[in-house]
Amino acid sequence: TLDAEFFRRWMAGTAAAVEADADRLTELDSPIGDADHGSNLRRGFAAVAAALEKEPPDTPGGVLALASRQLISTVGGASGPLYGMLLRRTGKTFGDAAQVSVAEFAQALRVGADAVAQLGGAAAGDKTMLDALLPGVEALDAARGEEPRVAFAAARDAAESGALATVPLRARKGRASYLGERSVGHQDPGATSSALLLRALAEAAA
Ligand code: ADP
Ligand code: MG
Ligand code: MG
Repeated sequence: TLDAEFFRRWMAGTAAAVEADADRLTELDSPIGDADHGSNLRRGFAAVAAALEKEPPDTPGGVLALASRQLISTVGGASGPLYGMLLRRTGKTFGDAAQVSVAEFAQALRVGADAVAQLGGAAAGDKTMLDALLPGVEALDAARGEEPRVAFAAARDAAESGALATVPLRARKGRASYLGERSVGHQDPGATSSALLLRALAEAAA
């Protein structure tokens, strides 16, 4: 079941994945950004993991609210408030439920991703984290009748494909958009970290 323990495992797994891939995320942020995405998220998710260990919340919504606060207060870059918004609005949709279904998760994640789009003014195809998140949400929604292991694996695969598909896109939001046409040919760092987030989700359910 998708209870608080599951959500804590998801966040701890994300922290581990971001730690392991921090150098790669920063390398992706070098040609089309300011080379800090890996260090931004490493700092942010390390704070998330520490806070969750210190005071483990007992609802899914509580876990995501605490994670959101940590990201917003520790990540200086654009990705901090955006991921903070994603987790806050996703978690808020759960209310104080002790556990949620895959269908409820899919619906809540869509609310969260929509809030990211609204905060950042970006849409699908703008070469941002949304290009991994939105396909992930779509796949999860399509698989909402499956068991978590299967549904989250589908979301992970869609997000990973979405991240790869940012390579030929021209960035229209964020720092990479300053490069205009020269942003083409590089994978978006935020889409790549969003794929990590959904990979950790699939691992938490495996
Ligand atoms: P910064 O650009 O402030 O240094 P990061 O390097 O941590 O922040 O994060 C950059 C990532 O944030 C980008 O690769 C992109 O995916 C995402 N991003 C930036 N601006 C936006 C936006 N307006 N909407 C959605 N995602 C965005
Ligand atoms: Mg950056
Ligand atoms: Mg920066």
